[in-house]
Amino acid sequence: MDFPENTSMKPEGNIANRIAFLIKIKGLVQGVGFRPFVYRLANELNIAGWIINRNDAVVVKAEGNAKDMPLFIEKLKISAPVIAQIDEINVENDFPENFHDFRILASQDLSEETSEISPDIAVCNDCLDDLKKQPHRIDYPFINCTNCGPRFSIIFDFPYDRDKTTMKSFTMCPDCESEYSDILNRRFHAQPIACNHCGPYYTLHSGNTIDKNFSSVLQTVAGFIDEGKIIALKGIGGFHFMCDALNKTSVKRLREIKHREGKPFAIMFRDITVIKKYAQITDEEAVMLNSWQRPVVLLKKKEEPSEGICLGLSTIGAFLPYMPFHYMLFEQLKTKAVILTSGNLADEPIIIDDKKALEIFGKLTDAVITYNREIFNRTDDSVVRFIRGKERIFRRSRGYVPSPVRLPFDVNGILATGAELSNCFCIGKGSKAILSQHIGDLKNYETYEFYTETIERFKKVFRFNPSLIAADMHPDYLSTRYAMQQGIEVIKVQHHHAHIAACMAEYQLNEKVIGVCFDGTGYGTDGNIWGGEFLIADYYDFKRYVHFDYLPLPGGDKAVSENWRTGVSLLFKAFGNDLVNVDIPLVRNVDRKLLLQIIDAIEKKINTPLSSGCGRLFDGVAAITGVCTSTRFHAEAPMKLESVIMPDIKEHYDVDIAETIRFEPMIQQIISDIQNKISCSIISARFHNTIIWTIFETVKRMRKETGISQIVLSGGSFQNKYLTENVIDMLTRAGMEVYLSAKVPFNDGGIALGQLVVAAKRR
Ligand code: ZN
Ligand code: ZN
Ligand code: FE
Repeated sequence: MDFPENTSMKPEGNIANRIAFLIKIKGLVQGVGFRPFVYRLANELNIAGWIINRNDAVVVKAEGNAKDMPLFIEKLKISAPVIAQIDEINVENDFPENFHDFRILASQDLSEETSEISPDIAVCNDCLDDLKKQPHRIDYPFINCTNCGPRFSIIFDFPYDRDKTTMKSFTMCPDCESEYSDILNRRFHAQPIACNHCGPYYTLHSGNTIDKNFSSVLQTVAGFIDEGKIIALKGIGGFHFMCDALNKTSVKRLREIKHREGKPFAIMFRDITVIKKYAQITDEEAVMLNSWQRPVVLLKKKEEPSEGICLGLSTIGAFLPYMPFHYMLFEQLKTKAVILTSGNLADEPIIIDDKKALEIFGKLTDAVITYNREIFNRTDDSVVRFIRGKERIFRRSRGYVPSPVRLPFDVNGILATGAELSNCFCIGKGSKAILSQHIGDLKNYETYEFYTETIERFKKVFRFNPSLIAADMHPDYLSTRYAMQQGIEVIKVQHHHAHIAACMAEYQLNEKVIGVCFDGTGYGTDGNIWGGEFLIADYYDFKRYVHFDYLPLPGGDKAVSENWRTGVSLLFKAFGNDLVNVDIPLVRNVDRKLLLQIIDAIEKKINTPLSSGCGRLFDGVAAITGVCTSTRFHAEAPMKLESVIMPDIKEHYDVDIAETIRFEPMIQQIISDIQNKISCSIISARFHNTIIWTIFETVKRMRKETGISQIVLSGGSFQNKYLTENVIDMLTRAGMEVYLSAKVPFNDGGIALGQLVVAAKRR
């Protein structure tokens, strides 16, 4: 913050002892309740003047006595609304004009403000206090204020005003009305303002019982959970299933209900102290857990609350209460940890509709708790993991969407349709990129409907009309097909180029970079499946510099869930037909006839598409070492390999780095390690070290040959903390600048941003 050098102004006429500043504030300060906040602060400190929203900044003229003014500026910064983000405050001396009061002046240009919609915000501490003492809000579970409450999830049109939200059907009572219109009140223009007299309420449906009395609803739910029952609870962005995380029978039943055998469940803990029993937490992870976004944070597991939650992974997905209901429930519950997982079946989107929830969950669970305010925009819980001291978003939804990514160039009118798995799309408004919430796997019919519906909603809410579409090169991605059907010009962007460009956009990198892009699958310009790629890239184009050697995937898509097939393919590469004599469990356990068929298919190139995917290499090694031979969810095999790593192992295996990167020597060494009874933990560490070493050596060579020393890492494989932290450390120590996305997922959830910027530069 810049303070003026001379803060003592000459007294002028009757305004002795008064000084004046002109303050320019940049950042996310529009449409977040910033002006009323400044107004209240000015009143509190006897500051006169005015505030106005201008195109590029909020400008404040403030005058007061010399003692109060520095405090005013300090408080502007430290007590601003939680979701405001001040990037820059510029303070200049100005002349006192003898204002008598502080005013909010009409904005000169509304275009900026109206395009910003706040994400949903976890209930704030002031509101939690009010729950205990404000007469009309005692135990009112939909309490909110300008600093907290639902936002994006309830908006259906713009500008953000109560009648453009699903609060429309609730008429404010006189108490709420007077708070809403009092600028000195914390609920001034809080659009979802409500109380016990006028707002939404919960209803419990259980068997033939329908209960609308909140304290008895709460008691019933708490009793049910402690007894081991399962409930469906309507949250901010959709329904959740909830059960006691310490009750393994309930956990097991929940898996059956969800048709989800394999994926770990996220756990909501009563407070940080409880989390510390089950997981290791760093200070920065604690801050993140308590942030207004309240994401699920992937932590290092200490103890599994009960069997069947983490499923062999070394991480635990933890989060803290974020709705008033959650807080009030934990006051009643005996258990201090509940599973709170998306209320959906298998791969379908999370259910948001009361009727559908009652129809489906009514039969499956012991109670369904609805409330009579509609969820308009579906949002899942967001997921983050700390990698090298920064939070990295793996799933970007509640609390983050629709915050824009600000770019140094124009992207207006472009729609980027994203990838296929973990799809998000992205729209360009001026120089801002607005990413959609996590949509999911488009191959699921309901998810695809959610996708097209959300695109239409973004068009309406953000007054967006696409003039250009960016899409993946994969001809069969449903997002690409959608793009082709719109009758608008389409620019196709290679998958891994988009990965690298997304990270460049986040960090506003304008020079050519070395892009290391490791993931499972992405359509290459040669028609093969890419995913172990070293690129030289800028926004316009890229060159594939070197890549992992192609590996045939026996059975095509089948090789992803039956990853032992990929293991066999790796063995065939390293041993040829002799693989049948390799004495390891994988070879012994596969039916001999099937094994010979697979070898035959590889030799004759029958249904064995070629892949350079890093994810497939991890799949194959997981199978060979016996860590995971078939998978139940996306990236299970790599996650399990990471989970078994023994720390402090330094050695790596040998690799041939030439035109392509060949792993035959490594596979042969892994086999002799297995035969020498070396544990899979040590093998996994050595394998990871091999990939780290490969990246380091390859990047070093590329820097030498090109002179480029900015390195971008992207692709889902870098969600592996061991791999990524070691790569960042080694490259940084060698004097390179390393970038890995933090605000936008670097898995396929961030692809749309990359597509958008590439298309913007090419048009
Ligand atoms: Zn609040
Ligand atoms: Zn009211
Ligand atoms: Fe990818």
